[in-house]
Amino acid sequence: MSNARRILVIGSSGQIGTELVMNLRAKYGDDNVVASDIKDASDEIKNSGPFVNLNVMDAKVLFNIVERYQIKEIYLLAALLSATAEQKPMVAWDLNMEGLFNILNLAKEKIIDKIYWPSSIAVFGPTTPQMNTPQFTIMEPSTVYGISKLAGERWCEYYFKKYDVDVRSLRYPGLIGYKSDPGGGTTDYAVSIYHDAINGKTHNCFLGKDTTLPMMYMPDAIKATLDIMEAPKESVKIRSSYNIAGMSFSPEEIANEIRTHVPDFKIEYNPDFRQQIADSWPKVIDDSYATNDWNWKADYDLKGMTEDMIKNLKLILV
Ligand code: NAD
Repeated sequence: MSNARRILVIGSSGQIGTELVMNLRAKYGDDNVVASDIKDASDEIKNSGPFVNLNVMDAKVLFNIVERYQIKEIYLLAALLSATAEQKPMVAWDLNMEGLFNILNLAKEKIIDKIYWPSSIAVFGPTTPQMNTPQFTIMEPSTVYGISKLAGERWCEYYFKKYDVDVRSLRYPGLIGYKSDPGGGTTDYAVSIYHDAINGKTHNCFLGKDTTLPMMYMPDAIKATLDIMEAPKESVKIRSSYNIAGMSFSPEEIANEIRTHVPDFKIEYNPDFRQQIADSWPKVIDDSYATNDWNWKADYDLKGMTEDMIKNLKLILV
């Protein structure tokens, strides 16, 4: 390992981790980015740099890994997502909170210098304004996942103010990418819809056709993550979590956009328990604080993302 900054990604085998690790390795050097998960990693991750088995709940093993690799920066991605969390509320609460405390405490003890921890649009709830949802607004989440993310945000800000912990966070919207499968969220349909379109299958959508939600293409999510972590400390003024926006669309709108590439694509709507979660979330996010504080701007809209998803999935699936 070189003297460059040494990074640990926890939850590296998931939807975001799979892509984030490769981007971090390209930027900071393969050997400086240690990937870790309770699940095995892809060959790409294992062959390009270090990968270790780690359960974030095990503070002792975590500490040993941090020591062994002289880690200074942690990206904590391990969590139970919105739909899965509703099935296993206490497991979700334990993982989402204890995992975060284990990392925050390493920074409180000055063993590590910097933390990235993602929040979510799930911190908002049915009483939040749904259009242009402000950075600072009513937050009464009605899901276990949202409650855990809102509590996590408050703790992040507390550790920053009380212990000068340099923790940075983004409220991701639904994330869409072609390189890995989504991990049990309410916006997962917006990934599988592309797979069905390319495979010539009718998409059975678990949300109703008019359910507009905030979404983001994975390259934008990675860019936002790298940007907020690179921003000067004083520019990161919000230490709970920043609103960030990419695009907003409904299942009907994405289906219509897909039809410009796959004209005979068909979709059926059979809303399940995830409809209620989606109905409690914002439709369009105001991300002006992120723009003003550290120059955030998304590159992809629905049209640009669909072109890129279809081009790349055809190479993988066909
Ligand atoms: P994911 O479910 O795809 O990946 C999570 C990874 O964490 C998995 O590989 C899992 O094996 C691992 N993991 C679970 N328990 C663990 C443990 N105890 N120790 C170590 N690893 C463990 O999730 P993702 O979509 O990559 O999300 C990453 C983060 O981003 C989460 O905090 C999530 O809440 C947040 N987020 C994601 C989205 C999205 O659309 N994907 C949206 C908003 C916020």
